[in-house]
Amino acid sequence: MARRFVIIGNGVAGITAAMTLRERDPLASITVVGGETPYFFSRTALMYAFMGALDRRDMEPFERKVYREHRIDLVFDRVTDLDAAARTVATAGGSTLTWDALVVATGSSPRALRLPGVDDSLQGLVHFVSMGDLDACERWTPSTREAVVVGGGLIGVELVECLAHHGVKTRFLVREPWYWPVALCREEGELVTEHLRRHGVDVRVGEEVAAVERDAGGRVAAVTTRAGGSIACQMLGVAIGVEPHVAFLRGVKTPPALGRGVKVDACLRTSLDGVWAAGDCAEIDRGAGRPLVEQIWYSAKRQGAHVARNLTGPVAPYAPPVFFNSAKFFEVEYTTVGDLADAPPGARSLFRRHPTRPVTQRIVHHGGRVLGFNMLGSRWDHALLTRWVETGRSLEWTLAHLAEAQFDVEFGRADLRAMREEELAPALQGAA
Ligand SMILES: Cc1cc2nc3c(=O)[nH]c(=O)nc-3n(C[C@H](O)[C@H](O)[C@H](O)COP(=O)(O)OP(=O)(O)OC[C@H]3O[C@@H](n4cnc5c(N)ncnc54)[C@H](O)[C@@H]3O)c2cc1C
Repeated sequence: MARRFVIIGNGVAGITAAMTLRERDPLASITVVGGETPYFFSRTALMYAFMGALDRRDMEPFERKVYREHRIDLVFDRVTDLDAAARTVATAGGSTLTWDALVVATGSSPRALRLPGVDDSLQGLVHFVSMGDLDACERWTPSTREAVVVGGGLIGVELVECLAHHGVKTRFLVREPWYWPVALCREEGELVTEHLRRHGVDVRVGEEVAAVERDAGGRVAAVTTRAGGSIACQMLGVAIGVEPHVAFLRGVKTPPALGRGVKVDACLRTSLDGVWAAGDCAEIDRGAGRPLVEQIWYSAKRQGAHVARNLTGPVAPYAPPVFFNSAKFFEVEYTTVGDLADAPPGARSLFRRHPTRPVTQRIVHHGGRVLGFNMLGSRWDHALLTRWVETGRSLEWTLAHLAEAQFDVEFGRADLRAMREEELAPALQGAA
């Protein structure tokens, strides 16, 4: 009999799992249940849609008919119950789906701001994670003169850029002493801050919201800061991190073991027989009490494909790739390769900063081997940098070949002697 696969979540992990299952099992019944949109879209494109550079349809990586062509049933509904003994899931819409194998790929949800003045009835508070968030941002922006965005990470800065693009006077409140200390050293964080300020964004580091005030209509009117100031605003963007979206699993008939996310072994199996997890929601046991939650697009895709291969062939452990991420702070490009926050004690870095332009390069090394890169302000071939980390290239070799990985050749040819050797900032070693 054909196997029945049910996948909860129509994000990149879920859809990749479904597509890979179909490639490997032409007869299987494959159902993807997604509660956000009745189609698959690229979450990383949210900011481009908000800025009007893409329309909604352009956010969809595939034509919608692709699911029909691959005989994948996309169900627009929300899973509310899981019964591992009966091998079923139930949905809010009243359906019951039976599975031989179940994949949980429910992604992340934004961390909530829990402060005086904030509750579900507050108008004008937005996150920037889901399609519903994009709708809310577009609804509130035209009537917003001033906005406050809290949270100094990548999603916060994207929201700031979008609001600035729409002519909203935006204040960006970063609790830490500099922008994004889990990923950037002080000098890099300050460079980003300076660049945002040049774009008219009022960045306030070391500043936190203590309470939120609302107007007579229930809309955000101002925030009070811990330092005691008051900032008028008609919109409040909350970007204080995301967490694996697993809360609903705590209340189901047979919950899988949960930690920060759905706990899985190295092969992406949960504690329940026949139930697997992939993507942002999965908390992978990699031994030594250091579980791994990868909350980035290409890892979710890779995990989705891996689960599908495990379901249709020999079961193998998932091998996390060398960490890679890229972003943009207005025009300043950012490329990072290697898990710099997890660098061993004693790791050092070579660092240089362009005298006039917002450009920096950091090469992190330990024991003569290059562990990673943090590059701002120019474009890099991340595949090449990743290969150098994977193959354990020496520092000397890497310096001699660095320009080969840079698309912006002018700076790549600058005098490498300008680099200075320094200890890797403690924040980058996971102390932030
Ligand atoms: C604004 C923004 C920008 C980003 N930019 C980048 C970037 O530049 N590079 C990068 O690598 N990563 C980026 N990311 C992160 C990246 O988008 C995620 O890592 C990736 O989308 C995770 O994929 P996923 O399939 O695990 O989960 P998701 O994309 O979150 O998809 C999970 C889906 O499951 C649905 N779901 C949850 N619970 C249920 C349920 N009970 N029933 C049915 N459906 C359910 C959710 O509604 C959601 O649609 C960004 C994220 C955001 C928010």
